Amino acid sequence: MNITNVGDLPVAPQWFRFTDVDERTTLIEEPYVRPLLRANVWHLRGRERDLLVDCGLGVTTLVPLLRERFDREPVLVLTHAHLDHMGSAYEFSQVWAHPLELVDDPAPGSLHGPVLAAQLGLDEVLPPALLTARPHGDYDLETYRVRPATRTRSLADGDLLDLGDHALTVLHLPGHSPGSIALFDESDGTLFSGDVVYDDVLLDSLPGSDTEHYARSLRRLRNLPVRLTHPGHGHSFDRHRLHHLIDNHLHRPPSTVHRPPSTVHLTPHDSD
Ligand SMILES: [Zn+2]
Repeated sequence: MNITNVGDLPVAPQWFRFTDVDERTTLIEEPYVRPLLRANVWHLRGRERDLLVDCGLGVTTLVPLLRERFDREPVLVLTHAHLDHMGSAYEFSQVWAHPLELVDDPAPGSLHGPVLAAQLGLDEVLPPALLTARPHGDYDLETYRVRPATRTRSLADGDLLDLGDHALTVLHLPGHSPGSIALFDESDGTLFSGDVVYDDVLLDSLPGSDTEHYARSLRRLRNLPVRLTHPGHGHSFDRHRLHHLIDNHLHRPPSTVHRPPSTVHLTPHDSD
């Protein structure tokens, strides 16, 4: 299927945007990805090792840039295996994820809006091209596929990820996808939430989603001493906003509850 007018897409001067959030946290974004697929990548500097929380869509190489900027390759932790979070995972030598996320056999994904919408069972009409620029001059959007990665460590709820001078606790919070995790820094109340919660409509009816599990995960999150949330999409927010978003989702009127797609199952497992 042709993606109309993609030949007209300009070439981005720089694909990734780096923003230092505090002395050990850097936000990495892909500004030329349309919002549906524009995910946050979080780089956490540690004394012994660095962690990268998710790795973006994977349309151009990321690891060489990280080596250049941070002097070493971080361990990649995947909050889940949707295309916008794991696209670059194949580049990393250490990939940590929950075993229920099929990082070695990911859903193929697409940068063609209608194809992706069909894969995900979304009602909304997506634009023909899910990028607004190309990462380099000879990039062909039609060749995009999520490349499989090798999981080098299986993460479980309660695992402590030690960076040397601070540590993050793994929270298994299924619902958006079966093996969705968040990382929680109990020392300062910072949560890296992936797609468990962000400041927009929460998706609990994708292929692989589970509405009941999602609600249970949100109730668990509400009881934790979270001070600041760095989500998988959009801006960071405080405890008050976190509770507002959780309560909104749990108490939404029945008419807005999305039913899982009954006819569209192009993949046996999760997609974003
Ligand atoms: Zn997702």
